[in-house]
Amino acid sequence: MSLTRPAGEFAALLDNLRDFIDNEVIPCEDLANAHDGEATQRIAAALQVSAKARGLGAPRMAIPEGGLGLSWEECCAFLEQAGRSFLGPVTLQCAPPGQPDVAALDKLASPAQRQRYLAPLVRGDKRSCFAMTEPAPGAGSDPRMLATTARRVDDGWVIDGHKWFITGGMRADFAIVVARTDGGVSWLIVDKGTPGFEVVRDVPTMEPFDTGGHAEIIFRNCKVGPDALVGEEGKGLDYAQLRLEGARLFHCMRFIGLASRAMTIAQEYAGRRESNGVRLAEHQMVQSMVADAHIDLYAARLMTLDVARMLDAGQSIRHHSSMAKVFVSEAVNRVADSAVQICGALGVSEDLPVSMILRVLRPFRIYDGASEVHRSAIAKRALRHGLSA
Ligand SMILES: Cc1cc2nc3c(=O)[nH]c(=O)nc-3n(C[C@H](O)[C@H](O)[C@H](O)COP(=O)(O)OP(=O)(O)OC[C@H]3O[C@@H](n4cnc5c(N)ncnc54)[C@H](O)[C@@H]3O)c2cc1C
Repeated sequence: MSLTRPAGEFAALLDNLRDFIDNEVIPCEDLANAHDGEATQRIAAALQVSAKARGLGAPRMAIPEGGLGLSWEECCAFLEQAGRSFLGPVTLQCAPPGQPDVAALDKLASPAQRQRYLAPLVRGDKRSCFAMTEPAPGAGSDPRMLATTARRVDDGWVIDGHKWFITGGMRADFAIVVARTDGGVSWLIVDKGTPGFEVVRDVPTMEPFDTGGHAEIIFRNCKVGPDALVGEEGKGLDYAQLRLEGARLFHCMRFIGLASRAMTIAQEYAGRRESNGVRLAEHQMVQSMVADAHIDLYAARLMTLDVARMLDAGQSIRHHSSMAKVFVSEAVNRVADSAVQICGALGVSEDLPVSMILRVLRPFRIYDGASEVHRSAIAKRALRHGLSA
């Protein structure tokens, strides 16, 4: 067990969080404006002030830097609560891309980069995005196909490339750009507004309550200084793997909360709606969907917790986080899909949040490594190293 505070203190923190989510955050979810990013952003900003006043927010950040300094294990419970609302993670500074970018820059940034980018990111004064994915024939599932280049010149680097689906890119103040350099794949920080940094459009997706969009960005002869390089040249793919492992686990934690909420709504509906003279809750096929959802979420929580404990212990989570990501991403989708089914037509409407929950969860089977890519990696590792199942 990796606990940073006495159990009673942590329980009080979770009570505070649960109360905040139930009584302040969920009531502010405006389903009618779920597709209005500006409105969502305004609401989230106001909620951030309340969260700070309650002593909540930034669960993984160190206490001296204004965070809660929770262990990964403690984050499982915290993020599940925060994740029950569409607005919870962004309000509590534990949503991507900010959260994993903070974690990565905390490990890799130079003193100057810490001051210029990390500190304002932590305070919420600046926003980041992480730009890796490219349209074909560039990098998607296969990072080795990376086509963006950063060419070293006398006084810095010149970046050329095309990125898309860059979460938060529409509002970001700077991008961490993954590019091919002479020394391999590297990370460079580029301020928005740098000549040659062109945001083409916000790629529309199925997700509601999106606060920063999914930007398509072109870098054309984009010149940055020598201090733009993050960490060491040539280590970009290792850094991306590390950033993704933590980000993936945070997704698992918060999406368990969202799926659980969908099933709670479905159970309430099944308890009051009648069909064939009995409540839906009395039909065995409905009961079967409810039971499977509970089994899925129980297993999802345990897998996530196990990987969190491995992270706390400083162990490699490469293999296990892949297994957890595949299982949890598919389990939460099964749960949300059943919730929609149980709620009937209301389930697919926007009168209830369940259809929107399903739309938030569906892309998780694709980003941070598609299920098929993880399955392939798990099987190859198992077969190569003769791992027991
Ligand atoms: C909502 C959302 C947010 C995102 N945010 C970001 C972001 O902030 N930054 C960023 O850089 N990227 C981001 N992405 C992009 C994401 O990382 C990519 O979608 C992902 O890496 C897959 O790449 P692709 O879409 O090009 O799919 P492709 O590589 O074209 O793959 C398509 C499908 O082919 C199958 N497939 C691919 N490879 C294999 C294989 N080896 N074995 C078996 N099947 C395979 C899988 O089913 C896969 O879903 C985001 C995507 C989404 C949907």
